[in-house]
Amino acid sequence: MNTLIFATNNQNKVTEVRSVLADSFNIITLREAGIDIDIPEPHNTLEANAKEKSKTIFELTKKNCFSEDTGLEVETLHGEPGVKSARYAGDNRSFDDNIDKLLLNLKDKENRAARFRTVISLIFDDKEYFFEGICNGKITDERKGLNGFGYDPVFIPDGSDKTFAEMHITEKNKFSHRKKALEKLINFLNINYGQN
Ligand code: IMP
Repeated sequence: MNTLIFATNNQNKVTEVRSVLADSFNIITLREAGIDIDIPEPHNTLEANAKEKSKTIFELTKKNCFSEDTGLEVETLHGEPGVKSARYAGDNRSFDDNIDKLLLNLKDKENRAARFRTVISLIFDDKEYFFEGICNGKITDERKGLNGFGYDPVFIPDGSDKTFAEMHITEKNKFSHRKKALEKLINFLNINYGQN
């Protein structure tokens, strides 16, 4: 089985990625690869931030690796918080602070349409590839559910009446942006490198 380093320190993302890729790939986290760094996300696009992370790890290890960057894009907020989703309420603020700010900015707004967008940057055999996954949905008026992470308690994907935080990971995977991007990654590797 091929090994891929997943360039993240976010354990929630690792759990989701392993739930999709574990049958096909041996996924190694940064910690398991012995790398103790916090890679910055200084750019204005998800693509550039994802690339920054995978490039940094590839330069350190010279091994196949991938990273992902995800943003919540809210229609009536002109795509915000978007690439700034992690620090929407300010640097070093919590998931809860970010949700509070989002709900405040959407107070009395009728249009609750939003989408999660994930961009994966893969470096495989020295070449670089991108894969995108989008999940359309809407933002609730209040938090519901205790599972997941980030904005999960206030996001309902189209086709469901539950927030992501009310779903088990296998149910979230039926809708999720990350799962869709990962499926493209798996297909690409299967076609081009004959992985199974
Ligand atoms: P990043 O990709 O780590 O920069 O994440 C950006 C922000 O979006 C962070 O606040 C995450 O918690 C949040 N986020 C990323 N993926 C998800 C998800 O699948 N559900 C809910 N929030 C997410």
